[in-house]
Amino acid sequence: MDRIQLLSETVASQIAAGEVVNRPASVVKELVENSIDAGATSVQIVVTDAGRTLIQVTDNGQGMSEADARLAFQRHATSKIRETDDLYNLTTFGFRGEALPSIAAVSELSLNTRTADSETGVQVSMSGGQDMQVEPCVCDSGTTFRVRNLFFNVPARRKFLKGNQTEFGHIMTEVERVALAHPEVSIELFHQGQQLLSLPSQSLRNRIVSLCGKKTSQSLLPVEVETSVVRINGFVSNLEGSRQRGSQQFFFVNGRFMRHPYFHKAVLQAFEGLIRESDQPSYFLFFDIAPDQIDVNVHPTKTEVKFQDEPVIWKILLAAVRETVGKFEEMPTIDFNVADMPEIPAFETGSNSGNMPKVEYDPNYNPFKTSGSNGNSQYSSYGQPAKRNTDDWTKLYGDVQTRDVREPEIEYGNDSAAAPAPLGQLAERYILMPTTNGLKLVDQHRAHIRVLFDRFISQAVSQSAPSQGLLFPEMFQLSPSAYQTFTSLKQHFEELGFDLSDMGHGAVAVQGVPAGFEGHDYENAIKGMIEECAEDASANRESVLRTMALSMARSSAIPSGRHLSSDEMKQLAAELDACDIPTKTPDGQTISVVLTLEELSKRFG
Ligand code: ADP
Ligand code: MG
Repeated sequence: MDRIQLLSETVASQIAAGEVVNRPASVVKELVENSIDAGATSVQIVVTDAGRTLIQVTDNGQGMSEADARLAFQRHATSKIRETDDLYNLTTFGFRGEALPSIAAVSELSLNTRTADSETGVQVSMSGGQDMQVEPCVCDSGTTFRVRNLFFNVPARRKFLKGNQTEFGHIMTEVERVALAHPEVSIELFHQGQQLLSLPSQSLRNRIVSLCGKKTSQSLLPVEVETSVVRINGFVSNLEGSRQRGSQQFFFVNGRFMRHPYFHKAVLQAFEGLIRESDQPSYFLFFDIAPDQIDVNVHPTKTEVKFQDEPVIWKILLAAVRETVGKFEEMPTIDFNVADMPEIPAFETGSNSGNMPKVEYDPNYNPFKTSGSNGNSQYSSYGQPAKRNTDDWTKLYGDVQTRDVREPEIEYGNDSAAAPAPLGQLAERYILMPTTNGLKLVDQHRAHIRVLFDRFISQAVSQSAPSQGLLFPEMFQLSPSAYQTFTSLKQHFEELGFDLSDMGHGAVAVQGVPAGFEGHDYENAIKGMIEECAEDASANRESVLRTMALSMARSSAIPSGRHLSSDEMKQLAAELDACDIPTKTPDGQTISVVLTLEELSKRFG
């Protein structure tokens, strides 16, 4: 019996649709890109249930005639290229004519559109790409797409969608990218009836302020280079800004976002030796290049772009960023004229713009008091076993509020006194410990990460993380996508001992921090935690807590390059010893190395 059959039109188009539309965010991306291709100066995006129920995109672009509106839903129907050669001269986002038929195949879609020179508009509607209805309608010039009940006819795909937080986070990411690529286009975004973004047509630097906050943009330095091959302009963070967490990294080529790991390395290399290896500069870099020098003809959902002559552009990029960093290193950061801009401009609207948080604080708490139970509690409540004198922990943190106070006498409990005393510190990085069969070198930073991580985790898991109220709550702004992640992590922040208030519209107020965490850079620490969970904020509790605790431990652990007194070394060694896995950090880095006597004697020959 013959077994091969041609797939029905419906099945074939659903399969093809899967290539372009794999989640609500891809619909938003395709529709907004079409609007911009159509010359829109204003785009409004309305989303319900993270795009499951409704995605509506309205623009004031050139609109479509009735014939075009019908044709637009046929596969390979496009106004943007006609011949293969045009492929090498693309100035638009779209070109394959695949998006609309793909979206139509997996949703209930309607389109209202009118060109400026026509009196009446046209409405096209269909369900699952079938039964196209076309009627005249009254509408503004421009185009509105309404995509309802995405994947209603592909239950398997619908089931695979993640939670609303995650899906909406993806939508935010796409909107952020287009918004940065096209600051001249005004963009509004609504979710569940709430306005989340209201971006006027503005300069690039003001768009960055709107999306990433004043703080990020204040640390930015301008990059500008023009050669016969390529023009590169935009901004990179200064050294100070590159040490902050929550880095924002964007490349755009000819007005579209791209990923380019190779060029990313050029930027990193420009910073080499100036920042720590773990630091990440922020950058917003725009490449303008003749369209025939790049190939965007890759998979529609891919953001990689191939350039004709990558090594040459790599060098130009490296040199341009180096020059900027060198030139501005000593100088004050550029003045963005943002003094009169509100800190949270992108979120200014909305009815429930937050009130300042209630300040709750412990009236007995005195950060300058070291003796008595209050002073001690700073570290003992950090989970230190009570039998140890814990005041000396304060010394391990040069920057906590207690740094100015007189250092208390150090008395070790019996157990730590029994531990072998460190021999000294090497290169302000390794603690040298004698062992029965040789010499152990302990990486101080990694050792402290292990100690802190274990403590944070055990407190969170046993729901006993002590929190310290802040006298002066600190408020900061999250980027829209970070804010999405934050809302799903909020409970875990509490479990770890943070008291954070969601002020709405991307603003967060820190009202309390885990006891012992006082004095750290909260904004950076919290942004770092969010960033590291961004990929999988809805994973199981344990794994999210681990990621967060590790990030916290990293940002608060004793750094390399800090001098430690012998007591501090002794304390840290004892703490490390008490850990279940004292040899590896939670992410598998080696904490200590042993030089055995045997090896030594071999060396001596
Ligand atoms: P592509 O963008 O690759 O050309 P699409 O399927 O996304 O393919 O769109 C098909 C065609 O529909 C476009 O080439 C364009 O002519 C038209 N079109 C789509 N969206 C709009 C819009 N918002 N305004 C005007 N025309 C549009
Ligand atoms: Mg398109």
